[in-house]
Amino acid sequence: KLDDVLAVIIKCINFAAIKHKNQRRKDPEKTPYINHPIGVARILTEEGNVRDVEVIQAALLHDTVEDTDTSFDEIEAEFGVNVCQLVREVTDDKHLPKAERKRLQIEHAAVSSPGAKLVKLADKLYNLRDLERASPEGWAPERVQEYFDWAQKVVNGLRGTNKDIEDSLDEIFKRQCQLI
Ligand code: NDP
Ligand code: ZN
Repeated sequence: KLDDVLAVIIKCINFAAIKHKNQRRKDPEKTPYINHPIGVARILTEEGNVRDVEVIQAALLHDTVEDTDTSFDEIEAEFGVNVCQLVREVTDDKHLPKAERKRLQIEHAAVSSPGAKLVKLADKLYNLRDLERASPEGWAPERVQEYFDWAQKVVNGLRGTNKDIEDSLDEIFKRQCQLI
């Protein structure tokens, strides 16, 4: 069983690394994009003590459909229907305008499955830590502030899922947001 778990996790890391191979993060150092999904999975295992393998798989794959040419059919064929469903839940509809996608993230947060909520919480924590570390090139302070405020609204719909991760997010919101 441990052999099987290790094999599927390595398969996910490898799949994501290939899919994201030409992408970089928006930080000034242009960090390789793959650091992000791996870091989101790490937040879940090390900080959230999450041991649900399908949730960790979904974390590793969570931006492949949104940000690369990957299809849900491909995810389902390679990793099964449960992992695919989790990835679906955390993937924005790319056909919608940016502002609408942001609004829908707030709306969908509260009605997501527990596994999808975990991935979303860890994703937000990773991105907010990135933003506290360094602003992306071309982002005025108002844009950074808007992102913190929006992320807090999404996280408010994800609460009651993982205390440790939510506490870490709240520390960031205390520093960066007005209390709401
Ligand atoms: P983006 O959605 O373009 O960028 C944020 C996303 O980029 C994150 O959610 C994360 O997504 C990814 N990302 C990559 N690198 C980093 C990093 N180093 N730190 C944090 N996130 C990173 O930006 P916005 O969220 O601002 O979305 C656009 C919106 O911004 C529009 O709705 C518009 O209203 C607003 N806007 C505001 C401006 C202003 O000056 N106020 C100017 C332009 C737009 P992932 O997890 O998928 O990698
Ligand atoms: Zn992400």
